[in-house]
Amino acid sequence: MSPKIKFQTPTGMKDLLPEDLEFYQRVFEVVDDFAQLFGFNKIQTPIVEDVQLFEKGTGGSTDIVEKQMYILKTKGGEYLALRPEFTPAFARAYFEHGMVNWPHPVKLYTFGPLFRYERPQAGRLRQFYQFNFEIFGSKKPISDVEIIYLFWEILKELGLKNLIVHINSIGDKQCRPYYKKSLVRYLRSRERDLCPDCKRRLKTNPLRVLDCKQEKCRTVIAQAPQMLDYLCGECKQHLERVLEYLDALEIPYFLNPYLVRGLDYYTKTVFEIMPDNVPNPTALAGGGRYDDLLKLIGKRDVPATGAAAGIERIIALMKEQNVFKPSKKKIDVFVAQLGDKAKVKTLKILKDLKKAKIYPAFSLSKDSLGDQLKIADKLGAPFVIILGEEEVLKGKALVRNMKTGVQKEVKFEKLGQEIKKLLKKKK
Ligand SMILES: [Zn+2]
Ligand SMILES: [Zn+2]
Repeated sequence: MSPKIKFQTPTGMKDLLPEDLEFYQRVFEVVDDFAQLFGFNKIQTPIVEDVQLFEKGTGGSTDIVEKQMYILKTKGGEYLALRPEFTPAFARAYFEHGMVNWPHPVKLYTFGPLFRYERPQAGRLRQFYQFNFEIFGSKKPISDVEIIYLFWEILKELGLKNLIVHINSIGDKQCRPYYKKSLVRYLRSRERDLCPDCKRRLKTNPLRVLDCKQEKCRTVIAQAPQMLDYLCGECKQHLERVLEYLDALEIPYFLNPYLVRGLDYYTKTVFEIMPDNVPNPTALAGGGRYDDLLKLIGKRDVPATGAAAGIERIIALMKEQNVFKPSKKKIDVFVAQLGDKAKVKTLKILKDLKKAKIYPAFSLSKDSLGDQLKIADKLGAPFVIILGEEEVLKGKALVRNMKTGVQKEVKFEKLGQEIKKLLKKKK
């Protein structure tokens, strides 16, 4: 094998550079802030899990499990999957750590990378980021609305405008089988008008036909029976309560009868938040209730509701709507040093500067003062601390105002306070 000359990021994956990370960081900060406000606790699960967890918890008939999982075989012969979503891992952690005995509902959240073997030509990433919130142990419609409201508020706090909630109920195991039967009967009668994917879905997962984006399938779907007409009393009442709460919170929503999650453990509420009034919008966040999932993973009935949001899509919209400008990193002060003793002193005064919340820049590998002042100028540092051998001996440094060239001697232990004072004066 010839040696690789050039290395690149793997297909469908990308480096996040400092400017990208300012956007991610902004999202993470808002998510952490709202998690605290709404009383959610953060957990981190491993990036890999037993393949079977996703086969059960995501569903064997989903594209994710059928086509998009990264599976590794370990030396010990175990099969592990890079996580394609968070929810099954949360459910596993819930049982594994006895959260069953915690006060309920148990409210958890996280954010981080997920992995799906997507087609990169469609512009999809194979490593992407999501944040995820789950409430375990509540059957109540208000918990669905708590999740919707939380995601809504996070997106609004990020500055995003013109959003709408699409909402639907997909019933439960009481009423959905009747609907499914009548849907399948209808779709069979129109089978030749469906795309090849939907012909397959008709056998494996007929509900998924409802969210096919193909034009010819859309025409068929427009005349299909709707779940809303088949809801049992309990599911109907649940949906009505959810909509009442959304009205009371003044969240704009659209009752979308074609919104589905194609898996049997999803129950009642499903929702997505997306840009309003744009052609072919993609959802920023999506989720709903899945009362029958936890039993598949932990053999115990625990009702649950939750959602996830795609951070890359959110960032793309933040850029499109121009609602966040990454701030060029602001330097308070540059520390220029001359000689070895001064280099060591530079490192030693960092802690004092930190106490005064002054964040400096410095270039220890440079020896000439001229070079260092040039860097300070490029970084836009308003002040420079200058340390030479003599200053180190005297226990003082020179502080120079880069604009006026005026400089004064300041004792080392006063540096932080002095810079702070000068920065204040400058404003
Ligand atoms: Zn289709
Ligand atoms: Zn029902």
